[in-house]
Amino acid sequence: MMKKLLILMMAIISAVAMLVAGCGGGEKKAETKVLRVGTEATFAPFEFQKEGSKTYDGFDMDLARAIGKQMGRKVEIVNMGFDALIPALNAGNIDLVAAGMSITDERKQAVSFSEPYYTSGLIVMVNKDNKEVKGIKDLEGKRIAVQIGTTGEKKARTVKDAKVTAFNTNTEAAMEMKNKGVDAIINDSPVVGYYLAQGGNATAMTVGEIMEAEQYGLAVKKGNDQLLADVNKAIAELKKSGEYDKIYKTWFGEVKK
Ligand code: GLN
Repeated sequence: MMKKLLILMMAIISAVAMLVAGCGGGEKKAETKVLRVGTEATFAPFEFQKEGSKTYDGFDMDLARAIGKQMGRKVEIVNMGFDALIPALNAGNIDLVAAGMSITDERKQAVSFSEPYYTSGLIVMVNKDNKEVKGIKDLEGKRIAVQIGTTGEKKARTVKDAKVTAFNTNTEAAMEMKNKGVDAIINDSPVVGYYLAQGGNATAMTVGEIMEAEQYGLAVKKGNDQLLADVNKAIAELKKSGEYDKIYKTWFGEVKK
C-alpha cells in the first residue's frame, strides 16, 4: 500500500515537474527572442553614440527600446551604413529599421513601414561665410555633400550640374564642408538643427526653407505582417500611456501637439 502510494506520488511530482519545465522553457524562449534593430548612428538626435560610448542614444533608440519592452522582447541595436539597412532587413539580418527613415514610394516597393512617427523635411546647410547660396536654387553647379542612400542624396542629384559627393556618415559630410571641400550639405532639418545647436553654428548655418515634409517610419521586411502589427500596436500603446510623449520631450524639449 505504502509502496503504491509512493510510486503514485513520484509520478505526480515528475509529471508536474515536466509541465513546469515545459511551460517555463517555452515562456523563456518567447521572452528572450531578441528584436534586432538596425540603425545608422550618425543621425543625432535620432541615433548617435556619445564619444567613447558603446551605447546608442537618441529618439529612435529610446522608441525602439520602448517598443521592444512593450512586446516583451529584448532589443539589440545593430549599427551599419544607411544604404545597408534595407538589404539587411530583406536578408533577415535585422528585424526592424529605426533610422529616421523617410517613408517614400520607392522604399515602399522594398519594405513595409509602420505608421509615421515623426514629420521631417530636408534643408540646405552652408558655411557661415558663404554669401552666395541662399537656398537650393543657388546650388546649380556647386559641390554638395550628402549621406549615401538618403532622400538628401536624391534631392541633391536633381540639382543641375551639381557635383554630389555621397558619404557613408553624416559626420564625414559635415567635416568635408567645414574643410571647404563642398559648398553645401542637404540633410534632414531636425538633424541639421541639432548639429548647429551642439556647436556647429560656429561655422555653419541653414539657408532657405525646409523642403517638402517627409514622414519617418519604422521598417520591417515585406510580408512580416505580424511584426508590423505588433510594432504599430506598441506605438499606439506608448502614445496612450504617455511614454511616447516622455521620450519625445527628452529629445525635442517639448511635446508635439
Ligand atoms: N530621412 C532621410 C532618409 O530617409 C535620412 C535618414 C538618415 O540619414 N538616417 O533618407
